Amino acid sequence: MKEKMYLSTRGDQKPLNFYEAILQGIGSDGGLLVPEFDVDQKDLKALLHMNYVDMATEIISTFTPDDVKEDIRKLCQKAYGDGLFPKDVVPVEKAGDVYVAELFQGPTAAFKDMALSLLPHFMTFSLKQKGENREVMILAATSGDTGKAALEGFKDVKGTCIKVFYPIDGVSPIQKQQMITQTGDNVDVIGIRGNFDDAQTAVKKAFNSQELKDLCHQHNVFLSSANSINIGRLIPQIVYYFYSYLTLVNQKEIKLGDEINFTIPSGNFGNCLAGYIAKNMGLPIQKFIIASNKNNILTDFFQTGQYDANREFYKTNAPAMDILVSSNLERLVYFLCQDASKVNSYMQQLNETGVYKVDNDIFAKVQENFAAGWLNETNVLDTIGSCYKETGYLLDTHTAVGYGVYKEYQKQTNDQTKTILLSTASPYKFPSSVYQAVTGGILDEYEAIDALNEKTKVAIPTPLQGIKDREVLHKKVIDKETIIDFIGDQIKEL
Ligand SMILES: *Cc1c(COP(=O)(O)O)cnc(C)c1O
Repeated sequence: MKEKMYLSTRGDQKPLNFYEAILQGIGSDGGLLVPEFDVDQKDLKALLHMNYVDMATEIISTFTPDDVKEDIRKLCQKAYGDGLFPKDVVPVEKAGDVYVAELFQGPTAAFKDMALSLLPHFMTFSLKQKGENREVMILAATSGDTGKAALEGFKDVKGTCIKVFYPIDGVSPIQKQQMITQTGDNVDVIGIRGNFDDAQTAVKKAFNSQELKDLCHQHNVFLSSANSINIGRLIPQIVYYFYSYLTLVNQKEIKLGDEINFTIPSGNFGNCLAGYIAKNMGLPIQKFIIASNKNNILTDFFQTGQYDANREFYKTNAPAMDILVSSNLERLVYFLCQDASKVNSYMQQLNETGVYKVDNDIFAKVQENFAAGWLNETNVLDTIGSCYKETGYLLDTHTAVGYGVYKEYQKQTNDQTKTILLSTASPYKFPSSVYQAVTGGILDEYEAIDALNEKTKVAIPTPLQGIKDREVLHKKVIDKETIIDFIGDQIKEL
């Protein structure tokens, strides 16, 4: 049988197999890696009664070489079956007439856990399959949730170590506390004096540094990144679309084969893109409803076909969605036209002018599959408050963006199709905002955790319990100019 290969959205990358795609992360031409093979149609009936680990094995092995399915099962077991997540992994709750699939039940109470629990295992497995004996050093710059989820994912994974750089002026107190109290023998958390862009730019420089490349070569180390354009972040996310759909079938809320909608609070668009792949694998999804905050570049794209990054950047109360360059959209455009030279030209236009507009054929497919809307910050708080009052379900700020946008969509279209809202964070990750939304009161983040718990009786997720009093293990703060020296020293110590 022909090996399954991956190509770049921009057309200038020799085909890579799964392992090479995971380890390389991005196309050598700057594009994103995509499967060049047709994905299998999945038999929903065969998946219906599977637990999460078995279903993940079935879905994920669609993308891996055919002879390693049992290895993939072991990796999925480590990620989802060994107690990091609850037994049902992604519980589906109800908020009024909306089904809420909770993607935040993992080790850091964030959606990023869904992928970052598995990616480290993909990496070590890929190295093994390639016969590599190099150690992987993961470098990550984070503005919040990704850093912590990556730390938890890579912690104590053999053959890997991870260095997370966070801007000391750019993460929330809880996010910072989650990171600097991180345990594990192979983890390092370093503050960078400056904002997120400073941290990100410094880390990008490290990846391109010849000095570090030479050191890596001498010390048998391999630098990699855990960021969301790696195909290994995307593939694990396809699973919960199937799982949450089939949960509704098992609960007799829908019949097998019924079409449903998904509403997705979106930023870098990786979450939604996984759903689009699920649809191509036969999951009956009618519409994806793309929800944005005041950084509403995706809303405009889905309504007009034009992506225009020439606009102001806002810091909002749903910070994981504060984004102007939504990287994974490039993959969607590629899937819709299957034409790398076209994608290449759009991306060039984006680079040069900050704008591109897809042609009519692509836009017609966009409109067939997607709807979009956005909420401002006041709407977000109002939505949390009214949803809690009317349904008893407590939304975080990001999920509230989804809920509010869906309600508006429902009103405007009168679409009665059953809808799953993907919940991307625990309300306790953004407790000040959520507390304010529910009570009108203003408290600091730690006070708000306890007060919110007292008021709503919603359980505080284990990863956030007692977080304030946890021992600080990482106190290093460095200037962005010294990051390459710092990493160099770390490589020498391996
Ligand atoms: C990352 C994240 C998002 C956005 O997901 P994308 O895959 O980047 O679209 C939304 N909400 C939360 C809480 C997140 O952490």
